[in-house]
Amino acid sequence: MRYHLLVMTGVILLLFTSGCTTTRPDSVPVVVKRTQMQMGTLVTITSVASDRQRAQDAATAGFQEVRRLEDLISTWIVTSELSRVNAAAGKEATAVSVDTMTVLESSLEMARLTEGGFNILVGPAVEAWNVVDGQQIPSDAVLQAVRPLTDLRSLHLNAPAGTAYLAKAGMRVDVGGIGKGFAADRAVAAMQKAGATAGVVALAGDIRTFGRLPGGMKFPFGIRHPRQEEAVLAFIDLQDEAISTAGDYERYFERDGVRYHHILDPLSLLPARDCQSVTVVARDGLTADGLDTGIFVMGRERGLALIERLPGVGAVIVDRDGKIWVSSYLKGRVRMNNGIE
Ligand code: ADP
Ligand code: MG
Repeated sequence: MRYHLLVMTGVILLLFTSGCTTTRPDSVPVVVKRTQMQMGTLVTITSVASDRQRAQDAATAGFQEVRRLEDLISTWIVTSELSRVNAAAGKEATAVSVDTMTVLESSLEMARLTEGGFNILVGPAVEAWNVVDGQQIPSDAVLQAVRPLTDLRSLHLNAPAGTAYLAKAGMRVDVGGIGKGFAADRAVAAMQKAGATAGVVALAGDIRTFGRLPGGMKFPFGIRHPRQEEAVLAFIDLQDEAISTAGDYERYFERDGVRYHHILDPLSLLPARDCQSVTVVARDGLTADGLDTGIFVMGRERGLALIERLPGVGAVIVDRDGKIWVSSYLKGRVRMNNGIE
């Protein structure tokens, strides 16, 4: 028996299997695992059902749902609804589907909850930093120039009419900090409809689970160490919950010993400084994914205070000094990897 690492990012799903597909005798549920490239990342679906065909069909339904949502909300796809909203910034309102409206409304709700830490309009500032390719530190003048474009009050949603409008030219919606969690939720619903009794949808480190493994085990996960590559910081088992990690270690560059990464504090438009990683457990993926980014910006103290107020939500935070903080909801559920600390 060995750990099979399904997802090498943020949160790692640990399963005691050695192959891609496990087949058991007829009466025992079947586990199928498949991976595809979607939403610019590796999507891994684990599907449990009464027979192999049903498990496969459910996994296929999950992937199809992610693809459908990608076509609506990905800003890498020029024909997506959000790309059209962005292209019409400063000009006119754009019709969007109920799904897209849900992501946008939830994003505004997440902004309120995290006191502006989560902000889907930081795109122009993220671009100014261009952390992935550019390795450039933008001047203060450049950042101040894009600041008006990040004002959430200039995003007008009209749910009854089904339209979204960005009031200023150059504004841009980017749901990169919440969309994968949302897609995981919807993929799970599609899998359940297709007959899966349990499963996991993992869009890189944004993960939603439902049910349990055959034999009654919950789904086991490892939370990645933010400073030791491929090392697991802590373990946690999940059932009918989502888990999501935001970290400063996946996309970043260093200059003069300072780490510049891809999560920006909307207040300063500089990379958020207070945490190395924030892992959030919640009942749904949208909440877990939105909160990990928002809490990362809020920082350990305010972030933990918020987490403690939210029912059914917990967090593991590694602060800027590497100190590990576990919220009360997860105390007793998270097992530290003693080989690490
Ligand atoms: P990922 O799994 O892609 O690292 P995260 O949940 O960590 O996603 O969110 C990071 C992404 O969110 C960034 O790539 C950027 O597009 C966007 N982003 C950066 N800062 C913020 C912020 N303060 N609020 C919302 N989204 C942000
Ligand atoms: Mg997120």
